[in-house]
Amino acid sequence: QIGRHGSLEPFGFEYQGLKFDQDSFHVFAGLCAVDSKENAETIFKALSENGVVTARMGAYKPRTSPYDFQGFGKECLPWLFELAGKYGIKVIAMEVLSPHHIDEIREALEKTGHPTGVMLQIGTRNAQNFELLRAVGSQTEFPVLYKRGMGLSIEESLNACEYIASEGNHKIIFCLRGVRTHLGDPHRNLVDFGHVPVIKRQTRLPVCVDPSHPIGSRVAAPDGIKDIYHVAAQGVIAGANMVLVEFHPKPEEALCDGPQALQLEELPWFLEHVNLAREAY
Ligand code: PEP
Ligand code: MN
Repeated sequence: QIGRHGSLEPFGFEYQGLKFDQDSFHVFAGLCAVDSKENAETIFKALSENGVVTARMGAYKPRTSPYDFQGFGKECLPWLFELAGKYGIKVIAMEVLSPHHIDEIREALEKTGHPTGVMLQIGTRNAQNFELLRAVGSQTEFPVLYKRGMGLSIEESLNACEYIASEGNHKIIFCLRGVRTHLGDPHRNLVDFGHVPVIKRQTRLPVCVDPSHPIGSRVAAPDGIKDIYHVAAQGVIAGANMVLVEFHPKPEEALCDGPQALQLEELPWFLEHVNLAREAY
């Protein structure tokens, strides 16, 4: 169903007037977690000033500790969608942890008159949550960004995508986000962007890379370029169709993943960097 086993049927889709397939290219930048109205608006404004119409914004957060900020959930959706519409943002990638989050998102979009669209993200921690996979698969309104399980083989993660596709939703993007190894790592996870061509060869799915989560910090090489930039470029040169990356206007105040958030002022450089990598592909 996801184009394995030699199927040559065209795959890819259109959503909110944007094309997503193995030739398209989009950058989804923004907050790990929506932590204030002001920060969300600052991000949307910067994206729009840089000609970007796609964003990432977490409302439901899967935190390792129950005592950490869990996201504003459905409370933030009405104003978040209104703000996205105000700045011309066409698609927001947003993780869902439970099937009822999909209904909350749909209701908020309906109430606000669909100012924007949403791409439902399946996080690495839910990569084999089959009920959730079936739930995002049995609706066809929203595309799905499936993140590889950090401890799963490619085959296991592709089978998880089959759970989505077999329910009827073929609007799927496969995201590489690093894997956990027993070796320890100077980064949070081992970057697996060498698998971009593998997914593109084995399936017809567009492939996304997330450089923020495997690196986990703003550490820079001696050349002054942050590791997040280096690996983002590696993923894009390998043929990635999408980059998912975290920015924050004030990273030191972020309620989630502050250490890895790129400073909002560097957005134009980051975009230039990945666009050069895209040209090199
Ligand atoms: C995220 O993108 O906010 C996230 C939690 O990512 P992952 O599921 O890859 O850890
Ligand atoms: Mn994050």
